[in-house]
Amino acid sequence: MRYLETKPPVFTLTAGPVDAYPEVLRALGTTVLYDYDPAFQALFETVTLKAQKALGCDLPPLILQGEPVLALEGAAASLIARDDVVLNLASGVYGKGFGYWAARYARKVEEIEVPYDTAIDPDQVRAFLKENPEVRVVCVCNHDTPSGTLNDIDAIGAVTAEAGALLIVDAVSSWAGMRTGPTESRAAVYVTGPNKCLGCPPALSLVAVSQAGWEKIEANPDAPFASMLSLTDWKNAWKKTEAFPFTPSVAEINGLDAALDRYLAEGPEAVWARHALTARVCREGIKGMGIELWPVTEDIASPTATAVRMPEGIDAGPVLAEARARYGVSMSAGRAETLGKLIRIGHMGPTAQPAYALLAVSALGGALKALGAKVDVAAGLAAAQAAWDAAIDQ
Ligand SMILES: *Cc1c(COP(=O)(O)O)cnc(C)c1O
Repeated sequence: MRYLETKPPVFTLTAGPVDAYPEVLRALGTTVLYDYDPAFQALFETVTLKAQKALGCDLPPLILQGEPVLALEGAAASLIARDDVVLNLASGVYGKGFGYWAARYARKVEEIEVPYDTAIDPDQVRAFLKENPEVRVVCVCNHDTPSGTLNDIDAIGAVTAEAGALLIVDAVSSWAGMRTGPTESRAAVYVTGPNKCLGCPPALSLVAVSQAGWEKIEANPDAPFASMLSLTDWKNAWKKTEAFPFTPSVAEINGLDAALDRYLAEGPEAVWARHALTARVCREGIKGMGIELWPVTEDIASPTATAVRMPEGIDAGPVLAEARARYGVSMSAGRAETLGKLIRIGHMGPTAQPAYALLAVSALGGALKALGAKVDVAAGLAAAQAAWDAAIDQ
């Protein structure tokens, strides 16, 4: 008995959008207040300050009213001035994509691009910045989700600061799932969102801007204002006494409030440990069934998603469809350059649970087997179970 293609999947083990926490779903269903009701203005201030606590940034972060592509484009438009030389770091589809936004605003965009199953070497960035002292802004993606690989943004932030340049970070799919933040990476603009590891639906962006970031934005005559792309418009909107530039997404703010409460109550360290364990169990299972991971080395594999390399001659599309139809398990395809070559299992928010890693190994292994791949599902499940038990008995 197979799942009907039209039935919703029972398990969404994707790398975004992700399953939302029940607390978040309940909060989304609460009363939608008038945005200038004092209770909502107070809530917006409270939620911003909770987000500041969770992000660990010096200044209140911005909550922008659209999913994080809005904030990424807004960061490029606001921070990059027309005479700037930018260094874009591309180790995947998102890193590469940021360079196209940067090119709209910069005088010149230089790029270091590496194969999409590897990571940026901070020493190469240091050497590049030494040879090219005119670079004012460096852009990097922390977890390039379509590859499941991590860049060491703290090390890249250090060499960027050393060179006197400013850093823009895309930490959308890593933040709240591992130790990372605007302060550690010394980012001028650190973009993330509630829609990945915080377990909310896609709708909002979170942006931490440093003091140096604000100085550069405020000195940029082309930085957008009275615009959806503006960061400046929202700078003071967090205060309950200030006006909003336009109507905030009231229901989503309720959801974010619940997600932040949940994150802070569970404790960031415990949340990160849960993501890391799930990824470890999943990886042991994948390797155990005789299938390779996408990242060339495991030290650059993200704890928030596992990218699985398809065996020779097998396209990811039919495997995903088979897992969905056969077991009711939805996983993510690659994007652009990685499309067809890999499958991504998300460990984000509520699905960062080792039990889901076993389910993913089972569904992916079973689908691969059904399509004729050489795969030992039982060995994979045993390896995953062993990794889980080892962590419990430790
Ligand atoms: C999810 C994600 C975003 C948000 O972009 P969408 O493609 O609209 O989901 C941005 N950057 C990264 C690294 C992401 O994983």
